[in-house]
Amino acid sequence: MEDIYLDHAATTPILQEVVDAMKPFYKNNFANPASSHLPGQHSAAALEDARELVAELLGAKKAEEIVFTAGGTEADNLALKGAAMAVAEQGKHIITSSIEHHAVLRSCEYLEKHLGFEITYLDVDQDGLVNPQKLYNNIREDTILISIMFANNEIGSIQPIKELAAIAKENDILFHTDAVQAPGQLKIDVEDLGVDLLSLSAHKFNGPKGIGALFVRKGVELIPQISGGSQERKRRAGTVNLAAAVGMGKAAEIAAANLSEKRGELILLRDYFISELLSNFENIKINGPAPESEKRLPANINVAFKNLDADSILFNLSLSNIAAAAGSACASGSLSVSHVLKAIGLAEEYAKSSIRFSLGKNNTKEEIDYVVDNLIKIIDRLNSLKYE
Ligand code: PLP
Repeated sequence: MEDIYLDHAATTPILQEVVDAMKPFYKNNFANPASSHLPGQHSAAALEDARELVAELLGAKKAEEIVFTAGGTEADNLALKGAAMAVAEQGKHIITSSIEHHAVLRSCEYLEKHLGFEITYLDVDQDGLVNPQKLYNNIREDTILISIMFANNEIGSIQPIKELAAIAKENDILFHTDAVQAPGQLKIDVEDLGVDLLSLSAHKFNGPKGIGALFVRKGVELIPQISGGSQERKRRAGTVNLAAAVGMGKAAEIAAANLSEKRGELILLRDYFISELLSNFENIKINGPAPESEKRLPANINVAFKNLDADSILFNLSLSNIAAAAGSACASGSLSVSHVLKAIGLAEEYAKSSIRFSLGKNNTKEEIDYVVDNLIKIIDRLNSLKYE
């Protein structure tokens, strides 16, 4: 068996169509989109086409509502810090959840430490879901911003964003969602969802790395987090990575066009994988929402093998050419239990043994069979070593 890649939540392979779309912008069409000469105008037109395609992926009414950034992390930073700083005179209280990506959590910590904001971290239930009533109960007079992720990168829980954003709106509070894990798996419609700010990252949906976008609803003020020129309508200074933006546009176009087909295939494969795990292993636990609840990302499987060490399982999987992850991409390699698994109240004997498999459009049933066969051997071996 060739290498089996089951870590698409960390990053996805770039599509050939995307590479082809980007290529001209590294050589012939290299002009700065901010230049007024003809080649510059061609670059500017390509940038605006890419912006349009990202806006279409999100159902945004206006392409100007899209700000290109250098990835999901920067989009989250701009949303949290930019919006909080812009409305700080109205209040300094922010609500988020305990299972956000570190890009959101650390931005909140920054605002607390350096600018005197107060942060409320909502806890989640055992499936990793935020309760809308709890959000409502935690709103204060001085709450100015709420940030709840669309779908969790570790356990795949999909939040009731429409309901949460409606609560924010009723109370005149800005609402941001980190939707980095959603494209290609979930439909995103910023108008239907009613969100004010939404973060994306191209490399999570078969686009290039180092480019992302923030949807900023018309009328929402942001203080730029990078000082410099007037690019991106004064919301993000610096010459845009044109080739990457064009690649993101192409990836967005393809993700939107293929959504229903790809989503269906991922769900079938995910459910097959989970049923194979449940029928072949004792002492396991599937972390996150049950697949039939439709509150789980189509590509996400997160499984704990009681009392074993996730790093040993991952190492053995990699010897069989299988790539998976423990916790989130940035948390793996560290010994501490992921904050997400802690937040869902997982006992330590499960939390330390949790593996995330995240599927992509090229994975097959044969690959899943190969992974399960190998896992059976690996888990048997690790269990027997424990008692020697
Ligand atoms: N938000 C979520 C939910 C993610 O999964 C990630 C990436 O792991 C990010 C933000 C950061 O995105 P990027 O890698 O583009 O900085």
